[in-house]
Amino acid sequence: MEYEGKYYNGRVSKGIPAFIVLEENGISINYSTGEENGHVFWELEGIQQSEFNDATTLLRYGKYPQQSIAVFEQGFREALQQKYKGSAFLKSNYTSFLNTGLLGLAVVGLSLFALTMAFFIWGVPFLADRAAAHFPRDFERELGTNLHEKMLMAYDVDSARTVALNKYLDNLQVTSDFPIDAVVVKGDEVSAYAVPGGFVVLHDGLLQKMERHEELAGLLGHEIGHVQLRHSTRAMARSLSYYMLLSLLFGDVTGIAGVIIDNASTLHNLEYSREAEQEADKAGLVLLQQNKLDPKGMVWLMERLDSGEPEYMEFISTHPRTQNRIEELNRQIKEAKYKPASNPALEAAWEELKKK
Ligand SMILES: [Zn+2]
Repeated sequence: MEYEGKYYNGRVSKGIPAFIVLEENGISINYSTGEENGHVFWELEGIQQSEFNDATTLLRYGKYPQQSIAVFEQGFREALQQKYKGSAFLKSNYTSFLNTGLLGLAVVGLSLFALTMAFFIWGVPFLADRAAAHFPRDFERELGTNLHEKMLMAYDVDSARTVALNKYLDNLQVTSDFPIDAVVVKGDEVSAYAVPGGFVVLHDGLLQKMERHEELAGLLGHEIGHVQLRHSTRAMARSLSYYMLLSLLFGDVTGIAGVIIDNASTLHNLEYSREAEQEADKAGLVLLQQNKLDPKGMVWLMERLDSGEPEYMEFISTHPRTQNRIEELNRQIKEAKYKPASNPALEAAWEELKKK
């Protein structure tokens, strides 16, 4: 049986039409350039399989100048397999082809796995954070309202102090996209936190530590800063991003709000970045300045808490670099010099808040 193909002699790149015959101990090639006819014989041991693709079988032979043949006929490959079954050039190349295939697959598989892992570890929280930064305001407020209600179930609200605190807030100039609702809850916990959509929860334990109302104004400014800059919303979205992803995967978009609300307790443990804390500090300072209150208010509070037992205080505990924050605040205070004025309305509300 003769197969038609092209013969390459290794010296000239052009292929020469050839007839190929598979013999017992090798391949016989008869070629014809039109001007001259030639014949070569390839010993089996010198043959290398170069590549198989669907249409073409390519074989190489010998050292430099390396000859090769390309055969386009369909039956040629099967004929090779039958004739030289078990011979080195078929076997070795098949094995190596197989190895490359598996190795390639393994590499692709591992890369995909690594990409998927990277997506889950960094991508998902990042996307959740970005998404949360663009929640519509109404949605965020509604979310926060539900969240806030759910959280308050775990606390004992101090109604009298809550009224006084909101009176204090009413007399404070605040810049925010959200209406601000603050609540005082009973208990010794020295902490305060911001709930998405405009809610601030202040523990009585922290209120009792304060000695001047400027400290409260600074603290409120700080927490309102977290709300306004969406730190709490974004941090919640990051920490709950896997649940959010699941509810998205199951096509339950409204479920996202449910997931966040079901995890209201997460709010206690939210960690903000140092940048976020500094931004919130700055917001606190701006609020003090807007209201012509002594800008030292927040610094006093921090210094007091830092020397005491600060471990519960979100202000202090999220990041240990309280000294850096105080220094940064002091620097900003120096830049913006103004004369603090007294504010009778705020002082009256403060007196009410501190009443035994
Ligand atoms: Zn903070």
